[in-house]
Amino acid sequence: MLTEDSGPTTMSPGGTMALVLTFPCGRCGKRYSVYYPKALLYELSGTGTKEQGEREDEAELRSGAIEAARNRAIASGNVWVNAAEQQMLTCTCGKALDLNILHHPRIPQSRPSPGRREVGLIPFPEPPSKTS
Ligand SMILES: [Zn+2]
Repeated sequence: MLTEDSGPTTMSPGGTMALVLTFPCGRCGKRYSVYYPKALLYELSGTGTKEQGEREDEAELRSGAIEAARNRAIASGNVWVNAAEQQMLTCTCGKALDLNILHHPRIPQSRPSPGRREVGLIPFPEPPSKTS
């Protein structure tokens, strides 16, 4: 009899998880996948040092997680944006998009603020937690 030890096959890339949020343009629907490097997040939120963030960013970059995310974004027709380089974006339709993560709650339970519904927020996908 063949006994197969079917352990959990984790497809997730290690512990590193790049934070990529997708912002659809409220006017033309063009989607932007915005990558927030940890160095930027830590600096903004104060949860860590920039150096620490840079180290993690480098690890993610080396693991290919960033490139994979970018390829995925481009493959689905999104525009890839590095938030470290630009946090204000002007869409091709002329609409200004605010990419500053501090202006967007991570979990959109309610509308961020009245009159600001133009910028939607899709949380980054949760890591698959299959317990079978
Ligand atoms: Zn647009």
